[in-house]
Amino acid sequence: MNLPRYQYFTRKRSDIDWTPVRENEIEELERSYRRLVLAALHGGVRLGGSLIIDWPMEPGASAKPEERERRLPASFAKASRMLAFENRDASRPPRSLNNAATHLQTAIDTRQRQIIGSAADPAEGRRQYIRWLYEQLQTSSIRAVIDWNDQEVQGILKLWLTEDPQLRQALLEVFPVDRALVDGLYKAAGEPLPKSRRAEKDGFYCKVCGGWVGETYEDVIQNGLLCSFHPEDETHPFGRPYSIFG
Ligand SMILES: [Zn+2]
Repeated sequence: MNLPRYQYFTRKRSDIDWTPVRENEIEELERSYRRLVLAALHGGVRLGGSLIIDWPMEPGASAKPEERERRLPASFAKASRMLAFENRDASRPPRSLNNAATHLQTAIDTRQRQIIGSAADPAEGRRQYIRWLYEQLQTSSIRAVIDWNDQEVQGILKLWLTEDPQLRQALLEVFPVDRALVDGLYKAAGEPLPKSRRAEKDGFYCKVCGGWVGETYEDVIQNGLLCSFHPEDETHPFGRPYSIFG
């Protein structure tokens, strides 16, 4: 069983105005939020009064980079909302946000390719990329964004890295998961679970709520070590906070 990736995103945040968006708009907002945070970690968005996206050259656009840049509110929540639902940025006069999602994704992919490509072989390049991201996580100036949240950013990064098999492998090589901790979640069919339930089938279950975590060790890793009932709660599934980044 795989969790839809966007489920990680917490909907409890009070600083995001969720209403009156519909379910498909919530998903768009979640995608937009994740992409913005990842682009920021990859250096494609910087903080300078606003969140600034350096915009690539387009036909008819100014040759001066500062006349092309797009400015968003200096909070991930507000900026991702603007990216998801508005087509103009916060500049005066406003500039078009057409293709913003593509440009942000390109910033992520380009930086990733650069780092992986600079190593002697791709497997080592992927390990270097993991180490570089971990460094970014601790030192990037984007941490100064008003609603930066370590737990949430790590969750987004973890899913980004675990949904690709090769990056997942590199992640596990650089930051090995405590196998015994994962094994501690295993229940055979019929064994008791929290909340007075019993396991329907063999597999890994959340220690806190009995939520499904995965059928095999590999599934558990692939699902980002998350409880499917409470993916955004840091004490699930191990009963205490656990960071894959050591
Ligand atoms: Zn749980």
